[in-house]
This record gives sequence, structure tokens and C-alpha cells, in this order.
Amino acid sequence: MNLILFGAQGSGKGTQSQLLQERLRLKPCASGDLLREAISKGTPLGQAAKPYYDRGDLVPDELVIGMILEQMRELGDRNGVILDGFPRTIAQARQLDASLARQGQRIDAAVYLEVPREVLLDRLAHRYICRAAGHVWNTKTHPPRVEGVCDFDGSELYQRSDDTAEKIAHRLDIFFSETIRLTDFYAAQGKLAHIDGTSEPETVYAHILASLGQLGVLEGTSYPRQQASGQ
Ligand code: ADP
Repeated sequence: MNLILFGAQGSGKGTQSQLLQERLRLKPCASGDLLREAISKGTPLGQAAKPYYDRGDLVPDELVIGMILEQMRELGDRNGVILDGFPRTIAQARQLDASLARQGQRIDAAVYLEVPREVLLDRLAHRYICRAAGHVWNTKTHPPRVEGVCDFDGSELYQRSDDTAEKIAHRLDIFFSETIRLTDFYAAQGKLAHIDGTSEPETVYAHILASLGQLGVLEGTSYPRQQASGQ
């Protein structure tokens, strides 16, 4: 099963992606993480993407699409992938459909996590990420045991370079003017799972699962059996 997870910055995609990876055995494919890795390594892609990333602008399609398709090929996982942060535009969504069709694959469902802008702004202002593995913490709602240190791996926590108030506002504007249009695109394909992202993570996850069930995309996965046997 290939899933798309989309929602504005701070909508909880990272948390839900983690749960979906663990429980549905999907491989993650997160455009933002791939770009940050390319930028920190200084690869040609990273160098080309950096100015856009630093401004909080979308990185041009031709850079991002190639990167995602390559990553999906490398993952080549039978169980499927979870796309996080891609596609963000209708053009990217169309290209993704076309490329997957050429490989005999498809997107099965697109999960939209809806969270109001005021809640997002508050969540993002308190967001910290760990250096070692990108674990996400929130100093207000989900603080680490020791301030500034990741509970999981002991690495330092930092705020992302694009998580300043001004850049957050800019990225949210792009989301609500551009990326939000994906809801109509995937609804027209009968693949949209529209989820309220304001509840607790486990509740949001349960709603995602119920929605995927309704869309009929859990059939043929090993998910229900694994749950029943408590694995
Ligand atoms: P957020 O959702 O909080 O903006 P991400 O880590 O998903 O965080 O993305 C960070 C930045 O990476 C974006 O602001 C943009 O510059 C770039 N980026 C990520 N995904 C895409 C994409 N699909 N198309 C264009 N640019 C992207």
C-alpha cells in the first residue's frame, strides 16, 4: 500500500508517519528529511535546494520529483511506502501518478490531517528536533525529560532554521494556498481520507485507520492479523 500523508506544518504528520511505519510496516519517504540530508552533506541537489529551503519556499519540482522517485526505487518495498511532504502541488501529484503508473504502481490513499492555523502556529513555535535522528519534541505539549536533550538517543535538540515565526507564516501561506488543493485532487480519485488532526495522536491514528478501512485499502495487507495476535 502506498500512502500519502499531507497536512500543514505542525499538523502531526511526523508522529502519524512514525505510527503508520511501525504498525503497517510501511517505509518512510519524507521529502523534507531527504532535502535536509542533501543540504547537510552539500550534494549538488542540496546546494541547488538550499536557497529555496532557507527562505521557506518550495524547492523546484524538477529537483524534488527526481529525488523522491529515486528514493522510492531504492526502497522498492513490497509492503509500500508512506510519502510525507510530497506531493505538495497538483503538478507534483500528476507527475507522481504518471511515474508510478509506468512502474505498474499507484497511490492507494491520501490522508489529510486538518488542523486550524492558530493551533499550528502555537505547536511550531515550541517544536524542537533532535540532531541524531530527527525525533520531534514540543516544549509545551510533549517535552523531553531533560531540557534540550532527546529522550531516545541523548542527542541535542535544536529548532529548525526554517522554524522562525516569519518563515513558518510563509510556509503556512504556501500550504493553505497551494498544497490544500490536493484535497480536491485526491477526493476526485476517491482516495481522500480527511482527518481531524487536533485530537491526541492515538485518536488521530485510530481515525486514519478507520478511514483507510472505509476506502478499502487495508484489505490484502497483513495489518488486521498482526493486530489480532497482538504483534
Ligand atoms: P514542513 O512541512 O514543516 O515545511 P518539511 O520538512 O516537510 O517541513 O519541508 C521543509 C522544506 O523542504 C519546505 O519548506 C520546502 O522548502 C522543502 N520541500 C519539502 N518537500 C517539498 C516538495 N514536495 N516540493 C517542494 N519543496 C519541498
